[in-house]
Amino acid sequence: MPELPEVETVRRGLAPAMEGKTITHVEVNRPDLRWPFPENMAQRLTGKRVENLRRRSKYILADLSSGETLLIHLGMSGRMTVSGDPLGQFHHDHPATQKHDHVVIDMENGARITFNDPRRFGAIDLITTASAETHMLLAKLGPEPLGNDFHESYLVESLQGKNTPIKSALLDQRIIAGLGNIYVCETLFRCGISPRRKAGNISKSRVQTLVPVIRKVLKDAIEAGGSSLKDFRQADGELGYFQHSFDVYDREGHPCRTPGCNGTIARITQSGRSTFHCPQCQR
Ligand SMILES: [Zn+2]
Repeated sequence: MPELPEVETVRRGLAPAMEGKTITHVEVNRPDLRWPFPENMAQRLTGKRVENLRRRSKYILADLSSGETLLIHLGMSGRMTVSGDPLGQFHHDHPATQKHDHVVIDMENGARITFNDPRRFGAIDLITTASAETHMLLAKLGPEPLGNDFHESYLVESLQGKNTPIKSALLDQRIIAGLGNIYVCETLFRCGISPRRKAGNISKSRVQTLVPVIRKVLKDAIEAGGSSLKDFRQADGELGYFQHSFDVYDREGHPCRTPGCNGTIARITQSGRSTFHCPQCQR
């Protein structure tokens, strides 16, 4: 499932093909994904310029010259590809339409953006830009972890009195937007905090250490994603999936990498999700 760094990588890959460019043609090959597509979607997109391509949590938002914003959520298995970019960066010909290519967007510069989603948990919506933040998927989101509203005193206050395990609290999108399972595991490992510890019982100074680590973990992953974009030429034009190594995630049974720790990474289940941690050095 794509997390924030993957979505940000997709956004950065799409930006040169879409930003400042007009949509010339839209093909919609089915009536819905997770929800029905907005009415007359192709018509409402055609002829509009993409003014700005931004990200909120795990959503990509394309602000259009019409005053509407195209919202894209990759869901579990959504993939975006760019083909035929005339900037000479990518050199892909338009591939033949594949099964599950649900929406195909052609830009004035010859670029083609394809949204493919075999499991159809993704979503595409078209909303008024001025009130985009009130959309049901965005309204309850907490601050962006890489933004200015997320800081030490905010997190200390948000976790105060919370009886839930810190792992679940950090996954709560109302507290921090866009932080997912992988990066919460990595953050707690780097901070030496047990994922089982009750959020409200962690000392203020330890909670404060989480903030820079969350930012670092995400920035490192975004950087790895950026490197993957440089190799884009060799790839098939698909954006957002890249090789990235983790310290605990998916490393069950492997030795802990903390210097001086002889622990073994363990996997437990919390709220139905796998948590990877070192029981020895995470307290
Ligand atoms: Zn350890």
